[in-house]
Amino acid sequence: MEVVIFLGPPGSGKGTQARLLSRSLKIPLMGMGDLLRNEINGQTERGQKIQKAVDSGEMPDWPLVCEIFEENLKGIQSNRIIFDGIPRNSMQIPDVMDILKRRNAAVEKAIFLNVPEIVLSQRIQQRFQCAQCGTSYSIKEGDTILCNICQGSNFVRRNDDQQEAMKLRFRVYKESISDLIGYYKDNNVLVEFDGTLPIDTVHHSILSHLKPFDYSVTAPMKKSTA
Ligand SMILES: [Zn+2]
Repeated sequence: MEVVIFLGPPGSGKGTQARLLSRSLKIPLMGMGDLLRNEINGQTERGQKIQKAVDSGEMPDWPLVCEIFEENLKGIQSNRIIFDGIPRNSMQIPDVMDILKRRNAAVEKAIFLNVPEIVLSQRIQQRFQCAQCGTSYSIKEGDTILCNICQGSNFVRRNDDQQEAMKLRFRVYKESISDLIGYYKDNNVLVEFDGTLPIDTVHHSILSHLKPFDYSVTAPMKKSTA
């Protein structure tokens, strides 16, 4: 299994780019944040522990995160996958790489979306999500739009987008990113992109650095015998 890893600051658009890439290459996307939210929503024992950590502003217990990560990875039936949100810092690299090795997986590329802090804070202030289906949108003051997924017209600011939380997230990010980048660079898998460019431009630029969608692994179309 080959892995494309996304990294970048909160608000860099890496979630959006990861989803677009998943659609273009027809490969699964594993967002660590989504997996943890699933646990919380499922009200499992693990979910309750994670909720507790989130409520007190701490990172969830790392061995627990690894357990959830590996469990979900086992269920993937694809020879290629995208990760978003794991590993978060260089301390997590050895465990993540061990898990990948056990699944016979290796990092194909690490996609780094670089965006300056000042641009990020402007973006965060414009970031909303559909109250009905959760799709993210960038909305400026006075804009009225309809969700193009569910036609909803009610948009809310994301909880984690409050400015203080944002500053904290950025500080944590800055402390952890340079080691991660160094690690991927040393392993010749790092590709950096200018995350301030339009979404489509960034997407096509990312695509041009990756192997295209592999038609050979999909089942050939059955010819109609009628
Ligand atoms: Zn919607």
